[in-house]
Amino acid sequence: MASKNPVIKIKTGRDWQLKRGHPWLFSGGLQQPPRDIAPGTVVDLVDAAGEFVGRGYYNPKTDIAVRLLTRQDEAVDRNFFRKRVQAAWDLRQQALDLSKTDVFRLIHAEGDFLPGVIADYYAGVIVLQSHTAGIDLLLEPLAAALEEVVQPKAILLRTDVAVRSREGLQKNEPRLLMGEIPPGLQVQENGLRFKIDPLKGQKTGFFTDQRDKRQALYRYARPLAEGATMANLFSYTAGFSVYATSAQPGLKTINVDQSAAALEQGRQNFELNGIPTAGHVFETADAFKWLEAETARKGQHEIVILDPPAFAKTHREKDKALVGYTRLNRLGLPLVKSGGLLITCSCSGSVSMAEFENSVREAAAQTGRSLQVLEIFENGADHPWSLIAPESRYLKVLFCRVI
Ligand code: SAH
Repeated sequence: MASKNPVIKIKTGRDWQLKRGHPWLFSGGLQQPPRDIAPGTVVDLVDAAGEFVGRGYYNPKTDIAVRLLTRQDEAVDRNFFRKRVQAAWDLRQQALDLSKTDVFRLIHAEGDFLPGVIADYYAGVIVLQSHTAGIDLLLEPLAAALEEVVQPKAILLRTDVAVRSREGLQKNEPRLLMGEIPPGLQVQENGLRFKIDPLKGQKTGFFTDQRDKRQALYRYARPLAEGATMANLFSYTAGFSVYATSAQPGLKTINVDQSAAALEQGRQNFELNGIPTAGHVFETADAFKWLEAETARKGQHEIVILDPPAFAKTHREKDKALVGYTRLNRLGLPLVKSGGLLITCSCSGSVSMAEFENSVREAAAQTGRSLQVLEIFENGADHPWSLIAPESRYLKVLFCRVI
């Protein structure tokens, strides 16, 4: 071990997961918490016998004291990041059909062996998120590697993410690390066009994780009769609705979101794809309240989509989240016409597919509906998760026929 990094010893019996490739060492697993190390410093981990286990970054302010970057004795520098970014880039070229798509997740944190890093690719513009103190300190070699591999038009850093508070970090204004963002940035997803606001849009600007589900919806919407309706709850910029109405132009959508700005962009996305917005509803409202009001109005639809934000951001919030999913689905199910389609989603990392299914099952029982599960989706290939670290297996989507 040639490095001059501070060395952290792991407690006996607390190293086996790391040796199998799990990237997290919890604070209770440190033999002796090191003193006088700035949050985010790169450290070497050794086992109780002093053998090198891996290299990662340390933060005493959070439960996950060390996140491992590599199990090799290699420098964490621009060359290291170049290899990781290249592998991530090559994977997307291989796994996605990019003939009609220029928007995808380029780096999915632990899933791409880069804990703390999220990068989304928008037609040549990279929007980067740093979730940890470690990545904050490594931004320079990371950005240089992204520039070298991808040759983007711009790299924008966004640090306005809630998870940073767990690392004792601030949210800051977006910062351009290189290049310039073309005005009126647009992307293409499966041949459909979307406007992106990388500076003010939620997360990095677009929810790339629903691409394959939106594409699947296209198939279900196409055979619907003219005048059929779709309620798109938590619609954000109306992604699902753009797909469904391109498949069946006679379909009428109701888009509900608490963000007026997202809905305005949704309207523009319709226009961008040549879909007249007349007859479509874009309603700024709390989705739960809207569902209650729609039930009172006895409104029913051929398709109902429930795609809420994560109800559980941590493991501790899981039980509350499961109750939340049951409640949401209980409110949504009566709105689906008999024989209609429910698309119900959870993006809570701590909720498993089986647990999510159970929440929906409970809602079905409470509303007296029978659900035929047609298709199940999880993370797409641009949101890979490491088998040893299923924490990043966060997305669950059920396509159900409702009787
Ligand atoms: N389906 C979208 C992504 C949804 S993200 C897509 O395909 O792009 C979750 C959305 O829920 C966000 O747009 C957020 O503004 C919205 N939201 C969060 N809480 C809400 C609430 N209580 N009522 C309505 N919308 C809400």
